[in-house]
Amino acid sequence: MQNIIWNPNMSHYECIQCSQLYSLEEDMFEGCPACALDHQPASVKPVYHEPWSKDNLLPFRQHITMGEGGTSLLPLNIEHGSVYIKLESQNPTGSHKDRMSAYVVSMARSRKYKGMVIASSGNAGLSVASYAAFAGLPCVLIATPQLNEELAKVIQATGAVIVWTDTSMERWERMKDYVNDGYFPASNYINPPVGTMPVGVQAYKMIAREIYEDFSGQIPSQVIVPSSRGDLLWGIYEGFQELNQTGKTSSIPQMIAVEPFPRLKRVLEGESYTGWFEGATNLVSINGQTVTKQLEQAVRKSRGKAVVADEKQSRHAQEQLHRLGIHLELSSTAALAAYYQKLNKYPSSTIVIGTSFSFTPI
Ligand SMILES: [Zn+2]
Repeated sequence: MQNIIWNPNMSHYECIQCSQLYSLEEDMFEGCPACALDHQPASVKPVYHEPWSKDNLLPFRQHITMGEGGTSLLPLNIEHGSVYIKLESQNPTGSHKDRMSAYVVSMARSRKYKGMVIASSGNAGLSVASYAAFAGLPCVLIATPQLNEELAKVIQATGAVIVWTDTSMERWERMKDYVNDGYFPASNYINPPVGTMPVGVQAYKMIAREIYEDFSGQIPSQVIVPSSRGDLLWGIYEGFQELNQTGKTSSIPQMIAVEPFPRLKRVLEGESYTGWFEGATNLVSINGQTVTKQLEQAVRKSRGKAVVADEKQSRHAQEQLHRLGIHLELSSTAALAAYYQKLNKYPSSTIVIGTSFSFTPI
């Protein structure tokens, strides 16, 4: 078994909304308790003693790993502008989720949880089930019938148990039962939601650092991220923010959230992020009727925006990428579809995050 060594420079948690501080002894699965009492749920984030070296900025010195991260940044040969794709489909189970899975199974093992539980309709379920199997932990996946049949077979082959529910809300209720029984939650389970537990989300900061290194110490003008509750976008934003705060860069990219129907867009126009946003889509990985504080905050603070890309636009972008030899699922290609909407009349350089490989037939 691989060693798990925590980073002693991780000091405490801080609420991203009210700045209340919390001990690392707390697991903080449900975000900031003070903000929850005000019915304004918000995530917390780890704070480090000395945030100026690479090693100090991550929760672990050593953790369980299947070789995730270090994905390629490829220039795209398309008609407009300077655009690159960060190919997260190169991770061991085919999506960016592997970065977080490595951290959450490490924490669950280190703190002796019974196993992992996750509500997912696809990539996250496969990723957590695979990493749990690798780490020797039981795994329960709570899923709706939207879960792809072939994917379900692979997930069950790892030994994970799938518990079926009719609706997304029911998934969260069932998941809470498992959390109360000593399982480690690898996704949100409260409503209105918060981001996934804070140690896990830290893994996505490395995407910002890898882009910074691939750009030889420069940063792109914008980063487009397929988003639902915004773990990925928040993590990348936090990575760029740390590069900026430690004096390595002079600014941070605009963070652009791509969504299949208006949710964050409505929040940025004035609605409360705790609302319920009706909409239907086949882009299952970025589906959902809710918005989180972390997503709103990262987009606002980076002067970013929310862009809606529907299934038709995403399918067009998917076809373009197939012709370049890149095979991503529709929820990923939504990011390129957003780029095609001429954000800021094609800024100097853009990264689109290609979150996951296409498991479904083309
Ligand atoms: Zn708070």
